[in-house]
Amino acid sequence: MSDPLRTLALVTSPADPAARIAELSGLIRHHDERYYGADAPEISDAEYDELMRELRSLEAANPDLAVPDSPTQRIGAAPLGATFAPVVHRVPMTSLDNAMDADELTAWGERVARGLGGAPAHYVCELKIDGLAMSLRYESGRFVQAATRGDGRVGEDVTANVATIAGLPRRLPGGAPEVLEVRGEVYMPLTSFDALNERAAEAGQPRFANPRNAAAGSLRQKDPRVTASRELSFWCYQLGEVVGGPVFTSHHQTLEFLAELGFPVNPEIRLVADLAGVDEFCRQWQERRHDLAYEIDGAVCKIDDLAQREALGFTSRAPRWAIAYKFPPEERTTLLRDIQVSIGRTGRATPFAVLEPVFVGGSTVGMATLHNQDQVRAKDVRPGDTVVVRKAGDVIPEVVGPVLALRPEGLAEWQFPTTCPCALQSTLVRPDGEADTRCVEPMCPFQRDQRIIYFASRGAMDIEGLGERTVFQLSDAGLVHDPADIYSLTVDQLLELDGFARMSAEKLVASIAASRSRPLPRVLTALGVKGLGPSASEGISRAFGRLDAVMEASEADLATTEGVGPTIAASIVRWFAQPANREMVEKLRRAGVDFGNVEVSRLPQVLAGKAVVVTGSLEGYSREGAEEAIKARGGKSPGSVSSKTFAVVVGADPGASKLTKATDLQVPILDEAGFAHLLATGELPSATDDQTAGQTA
Ligand code: NAD
Repeated sequence: MSDPLRTLALVTSPADPAARIAELSGLIRHHDERYYGADAPEISDAEYDELMRELRSLEAANPDLAVPDSPTQRIGAAPLGATFAPVVHRVPMTSLDNAMDADELTAWGERVARGLGGAPAHYVCELKIDGLAMSLRYESGRFVQAATRGDGRVGEDVTANVATIAGLPRRLPGGAPEVLEVRGEVYMPLTSFDALNERAAEAGQPRFANPRNAAAGSLRQKDPRVTASRELSFWCYQLGEVVGGPVFTSHHQTLEFLAELGFPVNPEIRLVADLAGVDEFCRQWQERRHDLAYEIDGAVCKIDDLAQREALGFTSRAPRWAIAYKFPPEERTTLLRDIQVSIGRTGRATPFAVLEPVFVGGSTVGMATLHNQDQVRAKDVRPGDTVVVRKAGDVIPEVVGPVLALRPEGLAEWQFPTTCPCALQSTLVRPDGEADTRCVEPMCPFQRDQRIIYFASRGAMDIEGLGERTVFQLSDAGLVHDPADIYSLTVDQLLELDGFARMSAEKLVASIAASRSRPLPRVLTALGVKGLGPSASEGISRAFGRLDAVMEASEADLATTEGVGPTIAASIVRWFAQPANREMVEKLRRAGVDFGNVEVSRLPQVLAGKAVVVTGSLEGYSREGAEEAIKARGGKSPGSVSSKTFAVVVGADPGASKLTKATDLQVPILDEAGFAHLLATGELPSATDDQTAGQTA
């Protein structure tokens, strides 16, 4: 086992640069071995890159200390040679220099401009696929060999494994060069990665941390059948050795040629005329990286003109004519300090990770949910582990898994607590066949606080200023015991609490008062009945009109309401059957909450289960009116188009993105007359009088 401190290099730079250079070189060598040799890195790429940058800048400041075999001068790692035969690359496989931000990209552009004596250049922008580099060799039009990059000079022969990758030509059409080496990236699409990890979880095996490691591990299998089952893919982006065939003058011509020969060339590649175009490409893909079906960790920009490339040449490890623009990291390793359990409003006990705070995915992450007991077990994370934390885009942070190589000896497996962490310490139970463990004590103060927070939340009573912190304060001060108590809060009481001034106290009391007249669907949601969310509340309100009617409704009647199945129906009946809950409803009534009645729809529910999106302005309806008309017939009117959308109603000046999406997904598009037909019948107009997707007026 390695020492985490050593591995993470949390050592302050000693005054002696020679010692630090030696230390960094040793660390990087160790991590290269873990990453390239064992496909089991111990630190995130971002942390590795930081070590490399520090070494590079120390060497730049102390040129006399730089040695030819420094990791900054090397590519990858030499093959271990145990399983796969070595392959000498006739044209070396290089790495790429990196730019971490727009300034570094500009600096590269300036270096290139100087190198070309100021001559203008065109750039090819590509996605930086997060997989591993591969060289495919064809002789006389036949696939003969596939080799990994290795140290750039010697790679490993993985021909049998690469032959299992779908979509790679085994034979090339006539006109192909006598010898053709095609370079590109082998990667694992996200769907294959998720499926692989699901299978691993079912078999009780450790999960792969990310698609790159999974792809690398899958390629280095002794049995090609295992590789085949992993569903790898390939994008090509470069030529290696070429003998014969057409002569090219630009990179984009070579890519077009490869596509003609049947190789997969990424469709997002763009040719741009200046660095501003490169910058735009990088920025756009940094935003959109999660729209892709595979992972990318940056963009690669390459000079298009092959003669200009020749003039620029290579450093010891990378071409001067290309640069990798790396996106900010979405994965980091950190210490898992503890696993604790939080109690939700329905009593669900959710384990969460307490982390040594780490900056990842654009924010500092100190906590991450672990969902449930089975997830903790599947991930096998233990307090004291070094763990990989991931925060991708808007997705909530996730603990990917432990770095097993860094696990301290004798670290105990985490046990789910048997009692609730609240003062009552009631027993936690996990019903047979359920994934969740629950606190079933109705008086549990943690549940009570969460019920109040939920009651006041935006999707429910929407009480501005009554967030988590204030609820905890009110609860600790003994001022609220259930949601109805908030209606008797006074300004003077609030002034006693930390952080309240007269204005903020008056504001909160006013927003609490305003919530008395929220419409029935919101009140129903706010009650916190298990499973009863806003959309089912809406359906129930339309069907029953008044809260009293809902309270008296039978399970069977509820179950046939739009958006409510038997499970939610049973949950509602159970909830209203409890005297404490009925008492709470009466308390709300006494507090002046008016359960805003909703007009019961008598219209035929012809749109039940159908989602109809409205965009642009219609002559006969306001936007709200059109949405009301859809809902009154049992339908839904969401704000965006998806493959589940039944139809899109388009008025004047429609939203371009909704229209494009409807066209792309082939969702039927209706004009106002088509909408009237839909409302009357629940059906689309016949093909002769509607405008189906792609044929809008
Ligand atoms: P790199 O990943 O920064 O860039 C070069 C590689 O990019 C190429 O070899 C190729 O495989 C790939 N690539 C993807 N799309 C491409 C495209 N369109 N055109 C050209 N190339 C494309 O450099 P590297 O030398 O392969 O590896 C160094 C990186 O590997 C580090 O920056 C780090 O992120 C990671 N690493 C991590 C650890 C660790 O312990 N976590 C250890 C070693 C290396």
